[in-house]
Amino acid sequence: MQYRIDPKSKNKLSILGFGCMRFPRNLAARIDMAKTEQLVLEAVEKGINYFDTAYLYFGSEEALGEVLNKHKLRESVYIATKLPIKKCRTYDDFDRLFNEQLKHLQTGYIDYFLMHALSDMTEWKRLCGLGVEKWIAEKKSSGQIRQIGFSYHGSHDEFGMLLDAYDWDFTQIQYNYVNTHYQAGTAGLLRAAEKGLAVIIMEPLLGGKLASGLPAGAVEILKKLNPRLTPAAWSLRWLWDQPEVTVVLSGMNEAEQLQENIAAAADAVPGLLTAAEHEGIKSVVEVFRESYKIPCTGCNYCMPCPQGINIPACFSSYNMSYAVSWFSGLQQYITSVGAADPHKEAGASACIKCRKCEPLCPQHIPIINSMEAVRQRMEPFWYKPVIKIVRKFMS
Ligand code: SF4
Ligand code: SF4
Repeated sequence: MQYRIDPKSKNKLSILGFGCMRFPRNLAARIDMAKTEQLVLEAVEKGINYFDTAYLYFGSEEALGEVLNKHKLRESVYIATKLPIKKCRTYDDFDRLFNEQLKHLQTGYIDYFLMHALSDMTEWKRLCGLGVEKWIAEKKSSGQIRQIGFSYHGSHDEFGMLLDAYDWDFTQIQYNYVNTHYQAGTAGLLRAAEKGLAVIIMEPLLGGKLASGLPAGAVEILKKLNPRLTPAAWSLRWLWDQPEVTVVLSGMNEAEQLQENIAAAADAVPGLLTAAEHEGIKSVVEVFRESYKIPCTGCNYCMPCPQGINIPACFSSYNMSYAVSWFSGLQQYITSVGAADPHKEAGASACIKCRKCEPLCPQHIPIINSMEAVRQRMEPFWYKPVIKIVRKFMS
């Protein structure tokens, strides 16, 4: 495992961080504690010391706290977690939510504390109006918060303004070789690093699309560059090539994924990619852009839909219909969307344009228009009669 120094705290952070949003879950959507415990223990044993969770990651803080406490690992790792800022309506809410988080994590302090999805100045001014700056100062002076930062999904311009609006210690941005001009982008990464902030990277694999979901043509290009490296390893190494990147988070929910990422991190130092490899990645981006039409990362923030539509599954099937084949996309659409609930109309055509989902999407996807595109491509004239038969068979 390689480590990089956080410029503000001088903490030595593992370049691979454990993203706890995707802890393994069972069929009832509860975290599988046995699997999670094994993964966390193996991660720590192999040198990962940065664990990223959030109040809003349903059960993730509690699971992480339980494992770290059971194995007396609290002092061996850095915990990053996030304040659900939309839930903060009064000054007292900051303390109330923070204390809940400490309890979930079974700890007395948070190493890296973030304003969760702070994505515009209007929201920051609202929090300042509630007294967030005074609250942060108090928590830092008591040692309950060690480093303060924000995670970001807004536009490039607002990112610069937010960086200048407060004396942050670190920031967390979505970044990968496809999103160089999206959200904070490369310019935002450089700006944050120039200001002396540690930069934590989320969505390095774009919700898995740059790993198992990479179009065949793109996989071929990567294989020619180096047949021993997987697409996921390429994505991570492209990030670690940049000295401004401090930690790359990966949501690992299988032991193989964890081992693959740890192997990729073994020798990943700044400047590790050759000029030919950079050119190869540029060609991969071109192939990817032709295949993936809707930039959904599968984060589920837009769910639940009151019509019972599985929004990310709709987009995943639609994208697959371009990246792999129309038939593969349709197969996925029928199994994961159309036939998922025999008692509900759950296809894209059930969208009533209520707009509940759109403001919640960190990728700013025009969900309603995209639903219409999904309906047109994935629901041919015979779709509904076929689905009726499948549902009858399933019920
Ligand atoms: S706009 Fe459509 S997809 Fe979005 S929540 Fe409403 S019904 Fe569901
Ligand atoms: S549509 Fe947006 S909010 Fe919903 S799963 Fe995709 S990226 Fe996440």
